[in-house]
Amino acid sequence: MTRESLARTVARDRRPAPAAEEVARRYVNQWVEDEALGSERVRAFVLILKTRGCYWADLKGCSMCGYAKDTLGRSATPEELAEQLSRALERYHDEPYVKVYTSGSFLDDREVDAESRRNIVGAFSGRARRFLFETLPEFASEATLSPLKAAFAGELEVALGLESTDPTVLGRYVHKSAGPEEYLAAGDRIRALGLRAKAYLLLKPPYLTESEAVDDVVRSVGEAAPHFDALSVNPVHIQNGTVVEWLYHRGRYRPPWLWSVVEALQRGAERRGSSRLVSFPTAGGLARGPHNCGACDARVLAAIEAASLDQEFAPLAELDCDCRQEWRETLRLEPLGVEA
Ligand code: SF4
Ligand SMILES: [Zn+2]
Repeated sequence: MTRESLARTVARDRRPAPAAEEVARRYVNQWVEDEALGSERVRAFVLILKTRGCYWADLKGCSMCGYAKDTLGRSATPEELAEQLSRALERYHDEPYVKVYTSGSFLDDREVDAESRRNIVGAFSGRARRFLFETLPEFASEATLSPLKAAFAGELEVALGLESTDPTVLGRYVHKSAGPEEYLAAGDRIRALGLRAKAYLLLKPPYLTESEAVDDVVRSVGEAAPHFDALSVNPVHIQNGTVVEWLYHRGRYRPPWLWSVVEALQRGAERRGSSRLVSFPTAGGLARGPHNCGACDARVLAAIEAASLDQEFAPLAELDCDCRQEWRETLRLEPLGVEA
């Protein structure tokens, strides 16, 4: 199967059937996690709303993204979104950082209509100091952002899945709908409006070796830093119904090593300029997530989290384990087609 037809087949298979009203009145998930506002460690309230989800996931979708499974198969009505919000607010205890995800773009009217967007942001105004949401770059405009800025007494942070500044990696391996220059321009637009811009950088898209993947992220940090306030290195974890999972089941993909995350942060720290550089690996230490040998995973993950929260990368140099040598061998031998 070609890369192109594989992507479209996977996208078709994961499209959910339209959901009933009762399903649409419940959000997907909610939890509280550690974060930082500047040098202050804070708690962050995370909410995943159930919406139509990302339009691009229906057309082709990105090779690592399985978020379509958390969507409705149709647009949520304003009443359904209001019900999801009110259920979530029952669990909100004035955490200073709020992150609201939609498995797509918060700014796409098909996912969250303009009035619901204002209501959601406004519900946390005066209670949270920062409110983060994600969007594709084409929806980040003055028309969509200014009403939200007016509705929130605090900082708005707009997160974009840039993934890589290399057009080939982004288009052919990640399968994004837009090129890197559109993401960088959106970062500039967001900041020109007085909002914070954050970019996710994907560590180890399919079809890259481990060392190519680290180099790609490090270069992307340097090229994206002038356009964003924060850069998050997101190592791939295997999500259901994705191209990456298809390759993984056929022995053609291994999730990145945690040593690669460490290396990306160490080298990226030298190129990040004034932007924050963080990584909070999802499914870290699990077979389907970024992992090392098993014995050192918890220790390395804790060090990655501490470096991200405190912006202190020097302690990463003190990490070690026998498996670090195996990782180094992988970097050296994989390009030659030899297993370490
Ligand atoms: S990664 Fe983002 S743009 Fe790509 S399919 Fe998933 S939600 Fe859509
Ligand atoms: Zn180890």
